[in-house]
Amino acid sequence: MNKEVSKTISWLEVSFKVPSDWELVADSGGITEAYMRIDSPSSVKLEIKWERVKKKVSDFFPYLTLDNYIKSITKDSKQKVNPKILEKGNAKVNEHKAAFYRWQFGSSNFVTLSWVCEPESKIFLLQYTLDEGEDKSSILPEIVKSVSCHNKESFYPFEIFDVSFAIPKEFHLSRRKLAIGKAELYFLSQDSKILVTWVGLANYQIKKYGFLGKAVSNLMSEAVKACDNDFSSLLKAIKPTDNFISLEKTNHPSLPILGKATFLSLDAKLDELSNKIFLVAFKTSSLEKREVGRKVFVSLKGKPEVE
Ligand SMILES: [Zn+2]
Repeated sequence: MNKEVSKTISWLEVSFKVPSDWELVADSGGITEAYMRIDSPSSVKLEIKWERVKKKVSDFFPYLTLDNYIKSITKDSKQKVNPKILEKGNAKVNEHKAAFYRWQFGSSNFVTLSWVCEPESKIFLLQYTLDEGEDKSSILPEIVKSVSCHNKESFYPFEIFDVSFAIPKEFHLSRRKLAIGKAELYFLSQDSKILVTWVGLANYQIKKYGFLGKAVSNLMSEAVKACDNDFSSLLKAIKPTDNFISLEKTNHPSLPILGKATFLSLDAKLDELSNKIFLVAFKTSSLEKREVGRKVFVSLKGKPEVE
């Protein structure tokens, strides 16, 4: 069963590669901690967790993290068995020293790694579930080699469900709705928010609604309003016959005491290649950041749709 790791998943500030038929099936968090689970067509395979820490990261030791993790799993489980540590060792993840345990719990076999990512001030756990008879050297080393928990760029790459984009590092995913053919991703920073959203079956939607403007008003305005009510005025400015949407607005308070000026932008397009409608809504109270929304919008790319 030597499969290739050919599919990139970039999600919740981590990138890695898995076999092409594995999918992200569950995720949570995104600001102070995060969790994601990736399954093969037949079983749970990969879980990645991180926690942002305020203490000095050098105060954390991967082996201690592993011990505490296994203790907490065992405590929460209804199974009345003790975990059996079968192997302990060291590994390298994205230039970090990592520790790993291969361990057994009931009839399940795991390899769990932990490391400290200093540039991101995060503690990581990566757990790989071994199928029956699967050796830890079959595919896990390839996955571990592909993990990127930090980068030198000013943005986090995101790549999920055949869509990729770049989000500036000051933003963290605060809320999301993921469904087949539809995604709503809400990112927050100290003074700004971004909504990245798309719908699939764009050809069908355009046929149904006639133009992009009407399709966006019908399919995406709820998500935009859920991001921030201030977008209502920009939504009203969308003409039903628009085939490309690029709107912006600066709100100045009538008196300085009423707060700061805010800038809003709303961009949407039909991407024929991937058969998706993309939309980015952006709000900031730092006017010098007004280009951020457009930069995210331009970075949005969909893979060609496979029939
Ligand atoms: Zn790292």
